[in-house]
Amino acid sequence: EGTANKIAAGEVVERPASVVKELVENSIDAGASSVSVEIKNGGITFIRVSDNGSGIEEDDAEIAFERHATSKIRSSGDLEAIATLGFRGEALASIASVSSVELITRVRKNPHGICVKIQGGSVMEIKETGCAVGTVFTVRDLFYNTPARFKFLKKDSTEAGYISDMVSRIALARPHISMRLISNGATVLHTPGNNDLLSAIFSIYGKDIARQTLKIDYEDERVRIEGYAGKPEIARSTRNYQSIFINGRYIKSKLVSSAIDEAYKTFLMKNKFPFAAINIKINPLLVDVNVHPAKMEIRFSEEKEIFRSIFHAVSDALAAKSL
Ligand code: ADP
Ligand code: MG
Repeated sequence: EGTANKIAAGEVVERPASVVKELVENSIDAGASSVSVEIKNGGITFIRVSDNGSGIEEDDAEIAFERHATSKIRSSGDLEAIATLGFRGEALASIASVSSVELITRVRKNPHGICVKIQGGSVMEIKETGCAVGTVFTVRDLFYNTPARFKFLKKDSTEAGYISDMVSRIALARPHISMRLISNGATVLHTPGNNDLLSAIFSIYGKDIARQTLKIDYEDERVRIEGYAGKPEIARSTRNYQSIFINGRYIKSKLVSSAIDEAYKTFLMKNKFPFAAINIKINPLLVDVNVHPAKMEIRFSEEKEIFRSIFHAVSDALAAKSL
């Protein structure tokens, strides 16, 4: 079981940013309105994710670290039309097998919470503790027992950058959640959680970008597309300023990127990429999110139609600008 978890960890936990992603997605699934991520040394020595979500029942706190102990699949149909972000029940088991984890959690109906300490997948300590409603996961010394994987970590500042990207994307996908990232004691990012995407863009990228965006608001019989696209003036030489979400899930898709490129074709030189924060709402049955275990790549079942919808959504926003 320990070995299986370590192998699974290779799929789910590639680097500190993947730990942050899994923990924050769990906080979101738990209904949190405020999530704080604190890291030290690029997350390699220390990651703490605190939320004000539902908390975990005492009896479930230990079980949550067992493989496939998910509370999120109710029927096989759910696998296709899944609403929550996590649904494989592997993240916590994987993370716990390659680090030291401390879980402090409390549900509203209990006057006190519980603290569970796990090292390399084994439970070291469980005790009652006083704490707020919600959950705090602390992950220390990632890959301490898998030297081969530890070796592949990049320098602290690079890993911190991956985490900052990850948290930014999640914050953009969930403007109703206040997200905070603190790195080595300094606040890197703090969104208001007021459910306004432009406010989140302002908090993350600053006013120069936030003031130079065009609103996207498009709907056809297949999809609803909402968000902001940058004016050509603030285009960059990387795609790092593009965030695409399908039903609130951050994804990477060549199809979507090339539809955006196509819409900007007459406005931008080659190798310049617009800012974009776009959410595509689509019937979950028309997308396959299970292509890769890290769940970043997706496949559409009606590719041509989707391409056209995205192209039109962005083109409409650009056309409105030149009116
Ligand atoms: P999954 O998210 O795929 O269900 P995980 O291994 O990520 O699996 O989490 C296991 C379980 O632990 C979840 O199904 C959930 O019940 C519980 N859990 C994890 N994190 C939290 C949290 N922040 N708040 C409440 N429950 C949580
Ligand atoms: Mg999860």
